[in-house]
Order: sequence, then structure tokens, then C-alpha cells
Amino acid sequence: MSTSLETIKTLCPYCGVGCGLEVVETGKEPTLKFPDRFKVRGDRAHPSSQGMVCVKGATIAESIQKDRLLHPMMRDRLGDQFRQVSWDEAFDRITQRIQEVLATKGADALCMYGSGQFQTEDYYTAQKLFKGCLGTNNFDANSRLCMSSAVSGYVKSFGSDGPPCCYEDFDLTDCLFAIGTNTAECHPIIFNRFRKRHKKEAHVKLIVVDPRRTQTAEVADLHLAIQPGTDIDLLNGIAHLLLLWGKSDRAFIENHTNGFTEFQELTQHYTPEFVSRRCGISIEELELAAKYWAESPRVLSIWSMGINQSVQGTAKVQSIINLHLLTGQIGKEGAGAFSLTGQPNAMGGREAGGLAHLLPGYRFATNPDHRAELEAFWQLPKGSISPQVGRTAWDIVRGLESDQVAFLWIAATNPAVSFPDLVRTKAALRRSPFTVYQDAYFPTETSEFAHILLPATQWSEKTGTMTNSERCVTLCQAFQPPLGEAKADWEIFAEVGRRLGFNAQFQFQNSADVYAEFAQITRDRPCEITGITHAKLAELGAIQYPCKDSAPELDQVHNKRLYTDRQFHTSDRRANFAAYHSQGVFEVPDQAYPFILTTGRLYGHWHTQTRTGRIDKIRQMHPHPFIEIHPQDADKLGINDGDLVEVKSRRGASKFPAMVTKAIAPGVVFVPMHWGALWADNAEANALTHAEACPDSKQPELKACAVAIAFFSIT
Ligand code: SF4
Repeated sequence: MSTSLETIKTLCPYCGVGCGLEVVETGKEPTLKFPDRFKVRGDRAHPSSQGMVCVKGATIAESIQKDRLLHPMMRDRLGDQFRQVSWDEAFDRITQRIQEVLATKGADALCMYGSGQFQTEDYYTAQKLFKGCLGTNNFDANSRLCMSSAVSGYVKSFGSDGPPCCYEDFDLTDCLFAIGTNTAECHPIIFNRFRKRHKKEAHVKLIVVDPRRTQTAEVADLHLAIQPGTDIDLLNGIAHLLLLWGKSDRAFIENHTNGFTEFQELTQHYTPEFVSRRCGISIEELELAAKYWAESPRVLSIWSMGINQSVQGTAKVQSIINLHLLTGQIGKEGAGAFSLTGQPNAMGGREAGGLAHLLPGYRFATNPDHRAELEAFWQLPKGSISPQVGRTAWDIVRGLESDQVAFLWIAATNPAVSFPDLVRTKAALRRSPFTVYQDAYFPTETSEFAHILLPATQWSEKTGTMTNSERCVTLCQAFQPPLGEAKADWEIFAEVGRRLGFNAQFQFQNSADVYAEFAQITRDRPCEITGITHAKLAELGAIQYPCKDSAPELDQVHNKRLYTDRQFHTSDRRANFAAYHSQGVFEVPDQAYPFILTTGRLYGHWHTQTRTGRIDKIRQMHPHPFIEIHPQDADKLGINDGDLVEVKSRRGASKFPAMVTKAIAPGVVFVPMHWGALWADNAEANALTHAEACPDSKQPELKACAVAIAFFSIT
């Protein structure tokens, strides 16, 4: 760690694009006029972002000092004032409570809910503590609300997790098929990369599938404003036409896939007339989409929350992949099925096993061989790791409601804004007998539900690794000492482990040691990183995995694309077609709740505003929440632009100023998800959403629910 005026290389801690940053200390003490002691700029040498940053990355330094949690705090009851305590006192209370729960209720009453804001070292140490030492797989993370459908889709179609593409594919593709992603606002830097070429080369096409006319859709060659929940109808409809026109890659299908016959039969139902009716688009629009697919030598599909956050999330992911298997558009430059991660280190979390069904190294809790490998590696007795899948995000709420969770540890995330069905979520959090909340900031909406607060260092104060959407691992280097008494998340987990008697398991001196140990258990796994160390990252810059230690030169260890040899990770090395019919949205509009609400993100804000709500420029850019409503609907309801509108679902109610716009289809309304109770009164999008989830990925359908709307007052 250095505090000199030299340039420090690190990574933007916001989204999964993972832009490289350079930080320079100004040498001046912060003043009111110049609050930033550090200047941040894009790192031109970073392969993913090539020097570019968006407004979030550019203003990140402003969030370093504000509203930081500086000391451990404790209280006996919710609603009481917190009192400052020593780390010793906090650790004693936590370990005592864990031991009490283990003795009285067993390991399954312990729960941790973590975050894609963790560095990989934090994730790994938490897995070792919870899944190894404590014997419960009750560790889930906010990736469950973000990427778990992509994980299960990749596993089912390819035999393993891992996005097969890289950002260079945006520079090379002939057709970008963007479905359920507002890339221009939510992943702006990679969208800029694509747009440079898209503007210059007429043959390069952009198809955007989104019920809203987003900034991404604004510049599309074809915008398919489908009805929410009809993605599979559209995807199967495109497949139907490609088959009808003889545009499939028969050799690829025959040599490298399973399940084609069943898929082909299924697509017969998805005639242009049927799909047009279901999706609410014209037959000509559908045919044009299929034509772009058929005529483009290289098609790159990208998706994000609009696909993943659905009761059919996994089915939708596999239906996208079907199109790539049908046309052989996989494992080559400019082509493939590419999920864009939301959180900066959602990928690192997947590598380290940071979901309730996973173990480190793309292993599964239900696989006895995987458990045995880890038990031996961690020097734990056989049978230490539970064979049960742990509690996923919403199962934690259920566990609190039924008193089956007696110890809840939440770290680096804000479920009191981001969870679905917030009325129920908050009631469950209020019921928790013992909640530890570990974060860099205070207050947040979730700190209200904590008994113990633990101050965590954030990106500026801790060294560790993060992996972005293209499997590119970057070393984030600390450039200032921890503020107050804050500690790195991995240090906190390791200390609790040692105090519980697991000395041998937590002898790390620094985060480089943690990463080195983690790397060893990835050997011969699809996410192998044995060739990556902190030292190598510091010397050479970001590296993509898989990366073996047997590879002598960096060029040989770069692994931009997966499946270039058309060998998949299934037992017979073939990819799987999946035959899914479309089920539509879970909550269908009716007389009482006649509109479909869809939720999403804005360019400047990040998730629940824990950082961006504290940055003046971003607050000015997006000063308040709103609801987008089509002029026809607004007319019918007597709503004018700017009026305060009350929105009700079967679970809760919120109020938003109306934004009357043709960007949204009639019958559909849109609300950004960023505002919690700390930043606006009674304007929570997730007070309205429901928790029904994809049966495979357990990812809730945060993107669609039925609502009623009424004029409330003139603002
Ligand atoms: Fe940060 Fe994402 Fe913006 Fe890049 S695109 S600067 S990673 S928020």
C-alpha cells in the first residue's frame, strides 16, 4: 500500500464492466471546495476499458470520506442508539452467538448474505468459514438477484458456468442482439466500444429487445418493444424462421449438440403470426430480426437483468443460447452468448462459490466428490461440508419468518432496498433475533435492522482482486490506510474463524495469501486461475482466465474466448439445446391491477445509492424517482406530467412523480429501483415487486408485477 504521489492502478467498484482506474493523490488536504484528496481517471492500459470511464467511475473519489462507518457499534434492541465498542467486544459477541446457535439450533440456523462488492478474497474466506468450518451452505449473495439465472443457464447448456465471450467481440461482431439489457446506461463503457464501430460501419446491426425505448433502443437498427415476459416467444419465433429459411448450421448441430430434435419440434408452434400476437410486434419486425441473425456472419447476444430477473430466467438464458447453437455462433470472434454481470465482482463470487448451491472453483454443494476435495484441501474432517443447498436470498426471509434463522450476517449489500416485496422483507429483518451488518457506510436502509455494525474497508483501502464480465481479473490496489477502525471483509471473517478455533484454516498474512490458496483449488476446473497471483497482476496488469500456472508467457495464458475448440464441459462435450415454452409473467394484469410494472436502472445511480446518493453531481443528474407512463394511459387516468401518482400492488404501495412519455408502451409502467427510504419518502420500487422466482436459479422476478395506478396530487 502506498500513500505517495505515485499513480496507483485499481478497478472501478461499481458495475461488471470492470473499468481500470488510475488514482493519483493530489497531496492536498480535502476542503469543502475541493473535497477529493484523490484524482481518479481511466487506465488506458486496462484491456477492458482502454482508458474510458462513465460518470460513476469519474466521481467515485467523492464517496471515499462521506458517511463512513468508522468503529464497531452495538445495541441490544432495534430502535436503541448504537454504542461504540472495541473490535474485541464485537468479535466476542459474534463468536459467542455463533456458538450458542450451533449448540441450540444447529448450523442451519446461521446465515450470511454477501455481495458482488466483495473482492474475491473476501468471498473465498467467507466460504471457508461458513461452508467449511461452520458446516452450513447458508451463504448467499446479491448475485442471486442479479446473475444466478445466467449461471444456471450456462451450466445447463454448456456444462459449466462462465461467459464464453470477451469485450473484443463488441469490436468484431456484425450484429449485436441486446435482449433485456439497457447497455447504454447500465454498462456504458462497453456500449461505447460497440457504438464506435456501429456508427462507422453500415453493415453492423444493433437489435434491441426491450419493452421500453431506452437509450440503447434509441440507437438501434431494430427495436423490438415486446410485451414484458414474452422473450421466449420471440427467441423461439426467430429460431422458427431460421429453420424455415434453412439458415441453421447443420454440421455444428450434428457434431457438437444434444437435444436438437425436441427443440426443432417445439419451434413449430412459434409461427410468425403467433409470436407477433404474443409479443405485440409486427411480423415484419420479427422477420427483420431473423434476417439480421441469418445474414450476419458474427452475432453477439448480450443480456442482463431483463432476462435473469424472471420466473423463467434460466429458460430464457437457455433460449438465447439455443439460437447460438442453432447457427454455430459460439466459440469464435465476434459471436456468442454473453451475460453482462451487474456487480463489479459477481464473477469472482461465482469462481469462489459465493452462492448457496456452489462451492469454490465452480463446484457444487450437492456433489460428494466436490465436497470431499474441499474438505481435504481445507484440512477439515470428512463430512464437514453439508450436502444440502443452503438458503438462497428469499429463503433467508422465509427462515426469519419461521424462526429457523437465529443468526444473520449481512455484508456489503443493502437488502432493505434491493429485495423484492419490501414490506415482507423488512418485517422479516425486524424479526431477526441477531443481525450483524458489515459495511463501509452508515446509515443505510439495512443498518436500521442491525444489532451489531462492523466497519469494513472499501476499494480505496484494501488490496484484492475482482473479475469482470469478460473473466478478466484485475488487482485493486489500496491507496490509503483504512478509515477509522475499518477492516477488510476477509480479515473480519478470518478473525471470527480463528476465534472459533479454526486457527490452521485462517493463517493468512495478507490478501495475496488468500488468493494464492484459492487459486490452488481451481486447478483443472473451468475457472482455473493457478497462473494468476497478486504479484503477476501488479506486474503485468489484468489477466483473463482460465489461466494455468503451466503457461509460461502471458500471451499464452490469455484466454479470451471459451469453446473455440467446440468442446463443452458436459460429460459428452456437447452443448445442450433446451426446449422451453413461454409462460409469460408470473403476475398477469387484471381488473384490480391492470398495469405491468417493470423496474430498472439509470445511467448515474448505482443500485441502492449507498455511494451514488452521496455524490452531488449524480444526485443533481437524477434528483428524484419517477414513474414512466404512456400518454394514452395518463389521459385515461387524468394524470399530467409531474403529478404525484400512487402505485399499488398486492404487496405494497409507493408514490412517484409521473413522467408521461411514449418511451414506454401502453399498459406498462417503469420505475427505477434505486430509491430506498433514506433517499425519498415512500418511493420504493420493491415495495411493489413480488418474490416468485425461477425454479432453477431461485432468482426472483424483480422485473415484472401487476400494479394499479391513480392520481394522488399535483406536486
Ligand atoms: Fe465503473 Fe461500470 Fe462506469 Fe466502468 S462502466 S466506470 S465499471 S460504473
